[in-house]
Amino acid sequence: MEHDIVSEQGTVQPVQLEASSPFDLRVNLGNDMPETDVRSALANGDMGFLHSFTTGSAVDGPGVRVVAWTTGCMWRCLYCHNPDTWTLRNGIPVAVNRAIEELRKYRQGLKVMAGGVTYSGGEPLMQDRFIVKLLAASKAMNVHTTVETNGFLGERLSDAELETIDLVMLGIKAWGNERHRHLTGRDIDPTLAFARRLSEQRRPMWVRFVLVPGLTDDPDDMANIARFAASLGNVERVDVLPFHQMGRYKWERLNLRYTLNDVREPTPEETTRAVAIFRSEGLDAY
Ligand code: SF4
Repeated sequence: MEHDIVSEQGTVQPVQLEASSPFDLRVNLGNDMPETDVRSALANGDMGFLHSFTTGSAVDGPGVRVVAWTTGCMWRCLYCHNPDTWTLRNGIPVAVNRAIEELRKYRQGLKVMAGGVTYSGGEPLMQDRFIVKLLAASKAMNVHTTVETNGFLGERLSDAELETIDLVMLGIKAWGNERHRHLTGRDIDPTLAFARRLSEQRRPMWVRFVLVPGLTDDPDDMANIARFAASLGNVERVDVLPFHQMGRYKWERLNLRYTLNDVREPTPEETTRAVAIFRSEGLDAY
């Protein structure tokens, strides 16, 4: 899919919606859209903003996935790998029908590879009406759906809409409101409330936890997250994701203050120890 943008110099540049990876830096692609159109797009979901589509992912849900990376996020995680997705208008405005057509191209292959489509971001529920329409269309094509979310806006989805999500990949970033606010800028309570609601409705869930030395590696905090996840009864898998510096260049290019320059990646032993904490609560952790 292609979207033409007009640069400051007036030249027209085609921007491919497909990207080799979400690490492509993308900015200001939706700046031409009038504010009223943005508001109505958010309200009715007929149009949304996408950073990119990537194909062939094996880490964003079961099987091989097409991933739609949305823009817009209300959090400011210190380790965010894709800060260019924070701003809605950094994404490409895409009509929902065009996004569905794009997905249709992959549906047979996804079935063969036992995969599906993953809506990630940014925070996909910032554009909840757009995502709800994409989820419904995905299910109509019989494509497995995953939403990768921080859960903060989970209450925007009705119970019926939750049924169109085959798997929620919930990021639990830290334990306790104080540490969570330091790391993300927001409280953890809405995320935990969403997790409990998914549990009550027996919706399948994976937990994602980013291990950052000195920031999220307190054993007691990890044990609390593990106990909480285990108590839910619907967590099928936990992924402990070692922190890395691959997103740093985006912070620099966007003139954002990156505070983790001196933070190292966890050693394999540290990651193994973190995984063991989750496993000790009976969770399937990797
Ligand atoms: S929730 Fe995700 S997209 Fe939003 S700031 Fe945190 S890591 Fe980045």
